[in-house]
Amino acid sequence: MFQLSNNTIDNQLREVDESINNPYPNNEEERLRQLDNLLFITKGYGMEYLEKLNTRKVYPTKENLENLKKFIEPIPENSSDPAEVLGMLHKHGSPAATASAGRRYFGFVIGGSQPAALAANWLSGVWDQNAGLEVTSPVSAAVEDVVSKWLVEILPVSKESVAGFTTGVTMANLTGLAAARHHIIKRYGWDVQERGLYGAPEIEVVTGEQAHGSLLKALSILGLGRSRVTKVPVDSQGRMRVGKFPKVNENTIVCLQAGNVNTGSFDPAEHIIPYAKAMGSWVHVDGAFGLWAGSSPEYSHLTIGYEDADSWATDAHKWLNVPYDSGIILCKNADDLKAAMSLSGDYLDQSGSRIPYQFTPELSRRARGIEIWAALKTLGKSGVAELIERTCKLAELFSLRLKNAGFSILNDVKINQVLVSFGSSERTEKIIKAIQEDGTCWCGGTIWKGETAMRISVSSWATEESDIHLCADTIISIANSIK
Ligand SMILES: *Cc1c(COP(=O)(O)O)cnc(C)c1O
Repeated sequence: MFQLSNNTIDNQLREVDESINNPYPNNEEERLRQLDNLLFITKGYGMEYLEKLNTRKVYPTKENLENLKKFIEPIPENSSDPAEVLGMLHKHGSPAATASAGRRYFGFVIGGSQPAALAANWLSGVWDQNAGLEVTSPVSAAVEDVVSKWLVEILPVSKESVAGFTTGVTMANLTGLAAARHHIIKRYGWDVQERGLYGAPEIEVVTGEQAHGSLLKALSILGLGRSRVTKVPVDSQGRMRVGKFPKVNENTIVCLQAGNVNTGSFDPAEHIIPYAKAMGSWVHVDGAFGLWAGSSPEYSHLTIGYEDADSWATDAHKWLNVPYDSGIILCKNADDLKAAMSLSGDYLDQSGSRIPYQFTPELSRRARGIEIWAALKTLGKSGVAELIERTCKLAELFSLRLKNAGFSILNDVKINQVLVSFGSSERTEKIIKAIQEDGTCWCGGTIWKGETAMRISVSSWATEESDIHLCADTIISIANSIK
């Protein structure tokens, strides 16, 4: 084999060194100084963003959006000073961010970031952990185990459940449904993980007519199909009608919803789950935000019966107000979950009491349990309940203000969701657009029973009563100015 002389290697290294324009100092002390400076200026940018958050327009202006073109360039040939890179990100990026971390963002179901969870996100970012194995992150595995137990205690789920930490509810739904698929098919001596669905016993899926699109997406990815689902007719609030519930059996996955994304309504678990369980079905719950109502003594009557399901998907990035992305799958039977999420690889360390990747579709992933831990540790049970109750009361206040001004509230406001109509679809659309352009707050639209409606979701820890009055005044004045 051809061997380089030491002399040649030295020469080559020197050449390489001189040809790289390394943006990072190659001495440890210098490197730390650079990082210190970088994190320090980033904190400054972050604080500047947060200081303006509640006085700027909630949605970026046209000019802010126009400035995003500054990012359009060929990949740089040469290296840059990292501080300059961060400076550009703040200059053109920060103003084009949606102020969804602020007090007056009511679109979708979003929520902000509680301070402790945001700060924990920074620290775990510094740690840069791969949370897929205990050996790659003992701290993540240990904290996730604690958080798993805490979640099981405060949420309306079976007390035997275990939790996995996914990107969001789309993946949490996928995970829970994969466990269900495994459980049902395994009883026929068929290993769906190994043999797939070709020739496998058939699974029937039942959802409400108002099931969230992400649940149907998860079903489609799992080979269970979107349109072969039996959809149960719903009532005026989007809840499954018990009288229309089909016959189910041990080959059925029944998917209930805790918290309709428009109305906030709950499928009647206390009627459906006992029947479905008696027939041997697997019951999965999409409780992206609504499941959290169960953590408040004042609202837990809404989630009665849900603890008797088999799997529950929920988000921490919505109502718990931790940074994106943060979904949770809870599963009563850990073995079904682990079987569905198993993978093999001789180099993958299988030691430890919690093998994180057995609970999620991902292997490598960030340590998102850390932020949930910080949020729960800071709030405690009473703080979580208070967050849920406060946001529900603010939603009720919002709906009363709009109702008293003569506008129609289309849903029974039971939790944090309000659906508003300003009359015809056309007028409602115009008003939504004008509200978004005004920028005091941001509300989105939806189609409810064939007509356009405006959605209000009060999900942020930061929203105050004064914000509701300010936004109600603004919305009422805009609506009255549009015929
Ligand atoms: C938000 C939401 C989802 C989707 O969750 P992601 O975290 O965005 O993936 C699913 N179902 C319901 C009811 C939701 O509100």
